[in-house]
Amino acid sequence: MSFRALVTEKADDGRISSSVQQVDEARLPDGNVTIDVQWAGLNYKDGLCLTGAGGLVRTYPHVAGIDFSGMVRESIDPRYAPGQAVVLTGWRVGEAQWGGYAERARVSADWLVPLPDGLTARQAMIAGTAGLTAMLAIDRLEAAGLRPDAGEVLVTGAAGGVGSIATSILARLGYQVAALSGRPELSGALRLLGASSVIDRSAFLGGADKPLESARWAAAIDNVGGTILGKLLRQVNYGGAVASIGNAGGIELETNVLPFILRGVTLIGIDSVMQPYATRVAAWNRLGELFDFAGYEELVEEIGLEELPGAAQRILAGKVNGRVLVRVG
Ligand code: NDP
Repeated sequence: MSFRALVTEKADDGRISSSVQQVDEARLPDGNVTIDVQWAGLNYKDGLCLTGAGGLVRTYPHVAGIDFSGMVRESIDPRYAPGQAVVLTGWRVGEAQWGGYAERARVSADWLVPLPDGLTARQAMIAGTAGLTAMLAIDRLEAAGLRPDAGEVLVTGAAGGVGSIATSILARLGYQVAALSGRPELSGALRLLGASSVIDRSAFLGGADKPLESARWAAAIDNVGGTILGKLLRQVNYGGAVASIGNAGGIELETNVLPFILRGVTLIGIDSVMQPYATRVAAWNRLGELFDFAGYEELVEEIGLEELPGAAQRILAGKVNGRVLVRVG
């Protein structure tokens, strides 16, 4: 029994390359549920795994793909039965063990979530890790007291996967969204998603840097880190909160304590990888109810396994708009 997979290999000279190959089922990792993968996503982290950047993959040959959806093929865990639709995100699948860029995957039942009612496997991967993370961030900001009448919410890296889905869901919930992007050509698409204003990245970073700047944002969802996160923290309203999700622009955080001690600003860390089951299920259900999949379709690029290596380069270069959906099964 064999299946098609995008296999990532490391040559003796250290070069990383990926190609579609037939792989014997005996090579699948240990696990108690085997899945026929139908769809996978492409996330920034997949870009790192496919190119070897960041050292996330330690063992080669490797099958990347940090999220996927599909149908249970075999299960020795009582929670899952053949034919059941499931989705997987996180748990270092696709990094530390084989992931979703293959027609078949084997994982621990603890990592799976049953596909929420009313959501198709394709829709689950349009959202994918990006959608789940955006939802988790919004949940946490609301738990910190954010309400639609509080003022504008800034979303950085807005044209990427997490940013664009966060923009869409926030707008659906009635928030005013300021979308910060380095790609002014995507302003129209961001406004269609529901952004009430689009802020140019270089204009945002320009101007004087003060320890505390004019307060502008009720809250922020940051996918970028680095200087952008440092700058936006100094502009958050009294009592506001910032959800830190990503590091597309750098891992450093240069800031000072004034936003925290003079304005009571809260910095909330968001991790989607190790979230407990109940939190995942709740976030998937809310995402299924709130996210306008039809309205987002224009920002979905559908590709096959063969096209992944090129797409990985593009996502690392910040050139992917919205979500890349990978047709697997
Ligand atoms: P994408 O590549 O789809 O989006 C990232 C966006 O960030 C780009 O579209 C671009 O937006 C902006 N960006 C890219 N490079 C730079 C740069 N050098 N400086 C400033 N902005 C930049 O990635 P995802 O949406 O999948 O992920 C976003 C971030 O969140 C990544 O760092 C990812 O690793 C992280 N992440 C974290 C998770 C968690 O659990 N904490 C889960 C999922 C993702 P624009 O063109 O609009 O400027």
